Amino acid sequence: MTWIQVVGQALAGVLLLTGSVAGALRIETTPSRPSPGQLFWVTVAGAATHGSLELRLGARAFALWADGRAGWEGFAVLDRDESAASREFFVVDTFPAGEQLVGVGEIGVEPRDYGSQEVKVDESMVTLSPSDQERADRENALIRSVLATRSPERLWSAAFVVPTPGEITGPFGVRRIYNGKPKGYHNGVDIAAARGAPVTASAAGRVALVGDYFYTGNTVLVDHGLGLYTAYFHMDSAAVVEGERVETGTILGLVGSTGRSTGPHLHWGVYLSGARADPGSLLGLTRGVVAAARPSPASQPVQAAEN
Ligand SMILES: [Zn+2]
Repeated sequence: MTWIQVVGQALAGVLLLTGSVAGALRIETTPSRPSPGQLFWVTVAGAATHGSLELRLGARAFALWADGRAGWEGFAVLDRDESAASREFFVVDTFPAGEQLVGVGEIGVEPRDYGSQEVKVDESMVTLSPSDQERADRENALIRSVLATRSPERLWSAAFVVPTPGEITGPFGVRRIYNGKPKGYHNGVDIAAARGAPVTASAAGRVALVGDYFYTGNTVLVDHGLGLYTAYFHMDSAAVVEGERVETGTILGLVGSTGRSTGPHLHWGVYLSGARADPGSLLGLTRGVVAAARPSPASQPVQAAEN
């Protein structure tokens, strides 16, 4: 863990505030040099705020929340495909009448080679017919629009858990080569499990989307608030409806092989402010940093290895 000293300064053009802007902020990131695709934990101390803090990194804004000890905390991530160059970030106070820059820092980024993986599927799932392509495009736009929605309250508190026990057969981040054709990277983890095994919510939240889609089959997205979502793909069936509140362990559906899938498994994904993140990093951070700060008797043991 490293401490980055940044000095408060006002952003030109924003409303002037009464009182003085904070002096030195202390911003801590864990790990100190995150890799693209890996969530990292951010704490901010010494900020005088009039609303709530956001961390801005590249094109994305990450909501922080008050930690109850006069500081702020939250997650941020660089997408897996972003470069490993060091970059500036900005801490911004947002409030109804405007916003104010309260700090600037720089974060180092650790390069990571995720490798590649060959997958054989029916060719109709790789080279799509015009109608399948139209369907997949429409569904992907719907999923992206849900994931881009930031609901205002954090809905989880206990550490996130693995949604179904099993061996990880497809790690996060590998370049996928379908039938010899390089495609996008694998944006979740594949957990092998028997058809019909229960799939449970990783943490408390609200069901944001339920549907049967071309690539992802029977799909549930759970909104955990402040831009954080978990995704559950290829299920045999879903057991929840949109808008339903879920707790850690609530059954969302059953393991299956619907959509573009080679056999029964759960694809488990994590998204933050629309960026795709390694679920293993969410497990590790919420079990370590978050749980250590606020032990919760409701947290459950991890049931399978993370990658
Ligand atoms: Zn997958």
